[in-house]
Amino acid sequence: MSDHIITLNAGSSSIKFALFVLDGGEWPRMVAIGQVEGIGVTPEFEAKVDGQKTKRTLTGADTPKNHDDALKIIIGWLGERFPDAKIAAIGHRVVHGGPVYSAPMLIDDAAFEVLKTFAPLAPLHQPHNLAGIAAAGRAFPGIPQVGCFDTAFHRTQPFVNDAYGLPPEYYEEGVRRYGFHGLSYEYITSRLMDRDPSALRRLVVLHLGNGASMCAIKDGKGVGSTMGFSPLDGLLMGTRCGQIDPGVLLYLMQQKEMSAAQISDLLNKKSGLKGMSGVSSDMRDLEASDAPSAKQALAYFVNRIRRELGSLMAITGGADAIVFTGGIGANSKFVRGAVLDGMEWAGLVIDRAANEAGAEVISTSGSPVKVYVMQTDEEAMIAQHTVRVAGLAGSPAALASA
Ligand code: ADP
Repeated sequence: MSDHIITLNAGSSSIKFALFVLDGGEWPRMVAIGQVEGIGVTPEFEAKVDGQKTKRTLTGADTPKNHDDALKIIIGWLGERFPDAKIAAIGHRVVHGGPVYSAPMLIDDAAFEVLKTFAPLAPLHQPHNLAGIAAAGRAFPGIPQVGCFDTAFHRTQPFVNDAYGLPPEYYEEGVRRYGFHGLSYEYITSRLMDRDPSALRRLVVLHLGNGASMCAIKDGKGVGSTMGFSPLDGLLMGTRCGQIDPGVLLYLMQQKEMSAAQISDLLNKKSGLKGMSGVSSDMRDLEASDAPSAKQALAYFVNRIRRELGSLMAITGGADAIVFTGGIGANSKFVRGAVLDGMEWAGLVIDRAANEAGAEVISTSGSPVKVYVMQTDEEAMIAQHTVRVAGLAGSPAALASA
């Protein structure tokens, strides 16, 4: 039996999972990844091991009604497929650590109660993350559960990038710019620590996926993010609007008499690339589309990134490097090329051939700012934290205390 850890990311109608083995390497090694999705609708199980995909619709007695049921299906499959895996800890992606949690931590009953109080800060995500932790606690009694927060990386940002221009009591009660995608930013910075540590001095990371944000990093620490109190702010996303004047919300409420639920639906689900283009939320579809509305949505998407890039580079005082990551950042040469077009004034000189070829460095050798393209891996980051926080054998923390 060898030590393994499971990572879980519980959403409203899905649980994503990965299984990692602790085989003495610097990072835990992923051996399986998958999900149960469509809980309560048309549930499906999907997993990938050694590049081989399994997929099946869950019907009859197998139909998961809730997160507990979905987790049982995942555990049942892992048990059959990896009979020698001893689960030593479970790591959870938790969207919100509130103003207090700035690092991953063991989730005991007391911490769980504190995390519940952050649900109003992230009502679309936190309750589902907590349902995943509760289900895992019931399925694996006594096994350490580690919470890894998407907000933690940004807790180092200074007050001026953490606050809104409101009276202080709002800041005190938690109305702050939290920033999200922290596990991705942490993964990228830890990889750069090995690859090019000098890049960490002044760095901007562009996490461009279905959800999209950018982060200014100084000496390896988060100092400013495009996402704020919620993941709605900043860039245009798959279905989220990004930056918007609060006056628009007042107009929708006062003149159009829209309810909070209707506005939430508009801003979170009916806007973004999908809402603007009327074509799709998927970047590949938009790049392939001739519709003028698709071209306009793409132009808006790129323009917001360019504005934010200038703004974040003003926080870091210029940049030593920038990194494109996320599904779009890592794969779309069109978006990267458009973002970097005419950015020489900021020290960003693109090597067009390298960008076309999908190289890891897409700036010219003389470019004052280095431009990297990297794959992010939030699951690996959760796994790494889980090993350390749970003090598992072979982890640096366990070795230090031995
Ligand atoms: P999530 O936020 O759901 O984790 P991802 O980081 O997986 O999202 O990014 C999904 C986005 O990446 C989609 O818009 C998808 O179209 C885009 N994407 C993936 N591959 C490519 C590609 N080869 N070219 C352009 N866009 C791509």
